Parts: sequence; structure tokens; C-alpha cells
Amino acid sequence: MCGIIGVAGVTHAAELAYLGLYALQHRGQESAGIVALDAAGRARGHRGMGLVQEVFPPKVLQELPGETAIGHTRYSTSGSSVLANAQPSLVHYHTGPLALSHNGNLTNAVQLREQLICKGSIFQSSSDSEVLVHLIARSRKKTPEEQILDALGRVEGAYTLVLTIGTAMYGIVDPRGFRPLMLAELNGGWVLASETCALDIIGARLVRELLPGEWVKIENGRVIDLPQLPPQRPQRCVFELIYFSRPDSVVFGTSVDLARRELGRQLAREHPAPGADCVFAVPDSANAMALGFSEESGLKLEHGLIRNHYVGRTFINPGSASRTTKVRIKFNPVREVIEGKSIVVVDDSLVRGTTSKGLVSMVKHAGAREVHLRLASPPIIGPCYYGIDTPTYEELIAANNTVEEIRAQLGVDTLGYLSPAGMLHACGDSEGRFCHACFSGNYPTAIPKRRAAASEQDETTTITDTNLVHANQ
Ligand code: SF4
Repeated sequence: MCGIIGVAGVTHAAELAYLGLYALQHRGQESAGIVALDAAGRARGHRGMGLVQEVFPPKVLQELPGETAIGHTRYSTSGSSVLANAQPSLVHYHTGPLALSHNGNLTNAVQLREQLICKGSIFQSSSDSEVLVHLIARSRKKTPEEQILDALGRVEGAYTLVLTIGTAMYGIVDPRGFRPLMLAELNGGWVLASETCALDIIGARLVRELLPGEWVKIENGRVIDLPQLPPQRPQRCVFELIYFSRPDSVVFGTSVDLARRELGRQLAREHPAPGADCVFAVPDSANAMALGFSEESGLKLEHGLIRNHYVGRTFINPGSASRTTKVRIKFNPVREVIEGKSIVVVDDSLVRGTTSKGLVSMVKHAGAREVHLRLASPPIIGPCYYGIDTPTYEELIAANNTVEEIRAQLGVDTLGYLSPAGMLHACGDSEGRFCHACFSGNYPTAIPKRRAAASEQDETTTITDTNLVHANQ
């Protein structure tokens, strides 16, 4: 998952992009980057590994002048966690500087990469986004819009993009619309961002969310609607509402907070826990779900687990070596709330089960008499190929175990998963507009066969990049 932003027609655009990225930090903590364009069309970029505030000390932002800027926060779903894969990508091709921020995953990136390499393309990263850059740059079409369209005609999967060619900025959502993109107005200029929380922080006014297949060009203070991409059935990622987006955001036309409360209410209807003393959340993503569960069940809402906010989100840290240690660092139980009680613990989802196992053991050591685990989404039975880092089939606990086996492994007294129908109902899906492939196995595209090829290349890629990238017109 990634966070993307674009600002056009506003002085010190890079500073606003920086603030927006700050609000989108939850969408990716591995790397951050900004490319800014000045009035002469000169592009300057800075990318680095780490959090937004670490990558951008004030001095660096001052070196990114201009009224147009795009930014990116990344965590790896395609390609490994190295600087070469940080975005925005910035290249200089025959039409001028091209900068690109991508949220999503291309499902046919490996095949396209092989074809491009055979034709002489040289890749500097293992990220699928660079495939798009090559396809645009190699297009024989005349105008930038034709080149983009030409490139998009060859890719499959999830791509929500903010890109600049010359001084024009484009916002694009793939025809299935897996990932969100907002269009907003700010002091006569324009902003594109993954979530509305990034608009709030800079005082931008939401104009609308781009629909699946929609793309716009922003130039000289105007937003131009370009012809729709060839239509597909919408596949909004339901996991954006369950876990990924911030609760203070509105995505896919739905308040994330309200959707999560309703998920909690629905969970209480489907899996009540009669006789329990209280309910609490695994903070923070399940907070609103526990609130909904409490409202529906009448159980007292408590704070039974305290989260250390100076530790990254477990789910989006790449690699699993330090995952168990991170659980202990991240959460601590409130013994006075838990001791001698029958407790309901609400979490948003269960992926590998490692975090939950550690948490259950923790609350039992804190004296819980009974532990009833409630999950506000169905069992995850398959990986995501559209931009969320759910692991392989082998690592997914629900892909390899029955609910009863999972209950026993976690050591809880009862375990309840929300039903698929309950999840979709709570998220307001009356028209079948959501992707639920990781829960149902119904993938809306052909799924990639050889994801390993790209990661193999990481082992051999020589990183000569500093964290500064420049392109001159
Ligand atoms: S597979 Fe799951 S996580 Fe991926 S886009 Fe679909 S619903 Fe979202």
C-alpha cells in the first residue's frame, strides 16, 4: 500500500505535499519522496528511506521550489524495501521530465518487464511502477495523453496514479478503482490525494473522489476531464475501509469511522458473547469496531490494551523476523481492566495470527478469566495482488486451518469471524462494487504467476542512487 499526493498551482507546493504525506504516513512507512517542478519546468526530487519527517528536514524542502509537486509514501508490495524502489520515479525523456507516484500493483508487471528488457530497456528498480514509466517513455504516440493511454492499455491490475509530464499534472484511477484518489481545491490551485485526511491537514476543500476509470489533467489552474478509460466492473478494495484508510477519512464515498462502527455492530449481531464482562479493541484500527460492538451488545467498552505509538504498524513492516518482538513492544495490557474478567477482544482482521497469538497470551498473563476474540472481517484465505501486503497462502493462517483449529492455536475460549455478507452490508455495498478476493478467492483479474522474478533482481541490483534525483528540461 502507498500514499500519493499531488499539488498544482500553489506556491511552495512541496511543503504542502510534505504535510499531505505526513497525514498519509499510515499508508507506507518504508520510504517517502517528493518531486517538485518550478515555473521553468525544471524538476527536482528527493527520496529517502524512513518516515516522512526523517526524509524531509526543512532544508531539503527549501531545495524543492515550484508550484507543482507530487509525493509518495511507500511500503513494498512489489519489489523490495530499498531506496531504488522509493517513489516518485523521476526520469527525463523526449517530452520532458516525467514523475510518477503509484498506489497499487500491476498484475502483469513481470511479463511486461521481460518484454521491455528484451527491447533494451534498462531498469533501475524492481518496482512494478517503473514498468509504467518505461511504457510511457517508449510509446510512439505524439501527445503525453496518448502516451499515457497507450501505456495504460498494456497494464493490468491496480493503479491509482499521480504523475507529471512537463508542467501538467495527471490523476488517474484504474477502471476497477481498487485504490482511492480525491480531487480538491486549495487557494485557486488543485490537490490530488489518496485520502481526505491529507486534504484536511492542508485546508484543501474536497471537490470529488475520482471514479473508477476516471482521469484528469491539471494545467494552468484548470482541471480537464479526459475521456474515461475502458470500463470494467468496479472493484473498490473493501480492506481500505476495514484496515487501511484512516478513520477520519472518507473513501469510496463512505466514512471509514462509520463503516468500522457498523462492522462492529454487525459482528455483535453475528457473534455475541453472552456473559462477558466487557469489550475492548486491539488499538487503533479496531477502536471504532469495538465501539460498535459495545453499542450493539450493551457490553461495557474498556481500554484493555494500550498501544505504544512510537512503533510502526505491525502489518506493514516488511519481513517477519522481528514481528513477535514488535508485538510485545507495541502493546501492553491494563491489568486492572482485565484481571478476573471474561473479556471480548475485537480486532479488524487476522492475517498470520502471530500478533493475535502474542496478544492473547499477554491478556491471559494479565489475569483474563475468559478470552473471546471477535474479528470484524471474514477469514483471509488468499493473498492480495492489488497493493496490500497480505502474505502468501502458506503464511495465511485461515488458508491452512479451520476456524476451530485457529481458535485452538490462538488459545481463546471462543472465536468469531464476521461473515462475508455481513462485511459487505456493513460497508454499504448494495451494488457489488467491492473487491473481496482475499476473503472469497474471487480475483477480478488474472493473477500474477511469477512474482519471484522481480524480487530476485533485488539481490543483484546495484544501488548507486543517492536520495537525490534531478531531471532538467
Ligand atoms: S484482494 Fe483484498 S486487500 Fe486486495 S484489493 Fe481485494 S479486497 Fe483489497
